Amino acid sequence: MSETFLGQLSKFRLKQILQPIEVFIWILIICLTAVVLLLPVSGIEQNILYGLLTLSAGYTIFIFHWMIPHRQEHPQGFYLFTSLGIILTAGFHYLLHPYGLQVDLFYMLIILFIGVFRNWEWMLPVFLITAGLNYLINSLLWDHSSSLYFFNQFYDIIGLSLAALVTIFISRTIQAYEQTTSQKSKSLTMLLNSNQNVSPNTSLLESLPQYAHQITEGLPTTTCRITLLNNKKDKLLDYGIYPLRYLDGLKKELGGEYPLKHLPKHKQVVESKEFLILDQSSKPDTLTAVERKSLFWEQVQTVCIFPILLENEVLGLVSIGEERNLDREPFDQTRMDLLTTISNQIAATINTSKLHKNLENQAKRMTVLYEVGQAISKTIEIDDLLELIYQQLTKVLPSDAYFVALYLPDQNQLDLRMLIDRGKRYPPQKTDADQGLSSWIVQNHQPLLIRDLVKEQDSLPVKPLQVGEKEITRSWLGVPLLHESEFIGLLAVASYLPGQFDIDDQALLEQLARQAALSIENARHHQEVERQAALDSLTEVLNHGTFVSRLTDLAKDSLGKEIPLSIIMLDIDHFKQYNDTYGHILGDQVLRLTVQAIESHIKKGDLVGRWGGEEFAIALPKANRDQALQVAERIRTTLAELPINNHLGESIPTPTVSQGIATLFTHSTDINELLILADRALYVAKERGRDQIRTAD
Ligand code: GH3
Ligand code: MG
Ligand code: MG
Repeated sequence: MSETFLGQLSKFRLKQILQPIEVFIWILIICLTAVVLLLPVSGIEQNILYGLLTLSAGYTIFIFHWMIPHRQEHPQGFYLFTSLGIILTAGFHYLLHPYGLQVDLFYMLIILFIGVFRNWEWMLPVFLITAGLNYLINSLLWDHSSSLYFFNQFYDIIGLSLAALVTIFISRTIQAYEQTTSQKSKSLTMLLNSNQNVSPNTSLLESLPQYAHQITEGLPTTTCRITLLNNKKDKLLDYGIYPLRYLDGLKKELGGEYPLKHLPKHKQVVESKEFLILDQSSKPDTLTAVERKSLFWEQVQTVCIFPILLENEVLGLVSIGEERNLDREPFDQTRMDLLTTISNQIAATINTSKLHKNLENQAKRMTVLYEVGQAISKTIEIDDLLELIYQQLTKVLPSDAYFVALYLPDQNQLDLRMLIDRGKRYPPQKTDADQGLSSWIVQNHQPLLIRDLVKEQDSLPVKPLQVGEKEITRSWLGVPLLHESEFIGLLAVASYLPGQFDIDDQALLEQLARQAALSIENARHHQEVERQAALDSLTEVLNHGTFVSRLTDLAKDSLGKEIPLSIIMLDIDHFKQYNDTYGHILGDQVLRLTVQAIESHIKKGDLVGRWGGEEFAIALPKANRDQALQVAERIRTTLAELPINNHLGESIPTPTVSQGIATLFTHSTDINELLILADRALYVAKERGRDQIRTAD
């Protein structure tokens, strides 16, 4: 982009100046042709003159339409054609001289022309060649004794020297003009280029180094460093540095931080919002070693620290270094103006990038909330839901640790249902609800945001508790899980870096917590409904259907592992009569007491189900026939000793029970057959007089 722009600009300038000169030369050639036509010259001389004119025309075309557009090349060719021009002129001069026409003007034009369009240094050899050739031609062609000869030589030298002087003056002016034009075009290009940097997608770490590069190229300057203030405005962060070789061996400084307190001059600019110019000879006591090193690198003699301002707030600094010292005015008004424009653009870039980031973040957060919301309607498993929240949260929060604890009010404990620390998952564990940072949330039902645990430790109302990794986290954010103002648990994220979470993160987490709490409650409700559906409503043991299906699973396991499993069928004796005697309500109570007696003798993993009416089935995995017999006997004894009172408080007799036992592998390897066998054993017990235990043997 910059090249075409520059190219177009210089072509434009050249055309403007060249056109009148070329027109002038063509007029001259036409005039000379007219003169030759009108002059009473001999036929041969006229032909020579026409030849010379044709050559001049060709020469002019060559100079203006080939050599100037390609003027960068071949100085030798340039000298050659200059000489040709001189010979042509000399020819005209000689031939036209007898008629009183001086063509010396042509030399001067050529000299002038070269000085202006090459540079004036080029003019010196051309001047010497011209003067030499002129002298030679004059010496050869003219009569030495004539006074005209001396006059001519003298006239030519003076004319040439004058032309040279004029040329130097003009070419210097043009050069100066050219420099400002090209500088302006460079600056323009720089601005155009830097505008292109303001793409909201490029991160500042990509776009700001480009600015640094463009400033060094476009201003131009020796070095450039762009630093931005951190949020707390107490540190400068390196965002762009040019030339990059400065970072060789100092790579750690890229994106490095400099506490502002070590950089008093930078601090001064941040506070005053005014730029500052310093030179190498600045008193050592006003510049710290760090500051000196960060300013005077490469061959820098003078530096300018310039604030990047957005709405009168300092976002960062641009410091540029110059090899020139202060005497040579390295930071004149034009450059300072340019720097102001650029720094404004940098500010705009930072602002755009920030806005973009915010928008992007907001969009991400909306997506997270949406995804979680969507999933909640589909997920009824609490653990699946917590996993999903974790997956979504990691997309938007820079957290190292995540945990969800459900509150167990009876034990005053927190059930850490999910704990992930540095990507590692920890098994569920329980902690006391009155310890650690979480305890504050348990007590206050309010969110807790800690920006730096190390710094705030002493002022915190609670002490942190170590769960997960051994290292202490620096940032901590926890929110309560509340369902209709009931505290059901908490959700927390933590990071090993300080200052990772802010009030926006808290709002997001609170919103997620609301959704999570709702769905935890839903899940709990669902679990309760499922549990209820599986149980017998009177005795709260498994109902017939659930018992059979669970037993089938247990049997499969036992068959696979070839371990025994015993079934006890228990039926209350003469219960119809019992009901008739003492009433149904008491009968119901007896059924519940029977369950209690059974449950007091079985282990975790054993099953109890209401087979129907006053008959219960008990499954004892891993228990063989004898062990089952023991259990049955204990149940029988316990029931026999059970005191039962009626509603008047009178003691009434306890019914007896009959039990039948069948054991897997001992009696059958088919679970359905085993049930039938146990039932048949029970029948035998009834037959033999009740209040006894029979096995399927
Ligand atoms: P057996 O010793 O032969 O088992 O005699 P039984 O009277 O216990 O047997 P039967 O099958 O004739 O009667 C079962 C009785 O159990 C009938 C019913 O009154 C009683 N029963 C069944 N379910 C319930 C219940 O939920 N509550 C109460 N109170 N009684 C029930
Ligand atoms: Mg019965
Ligand atoms: Mg019965």
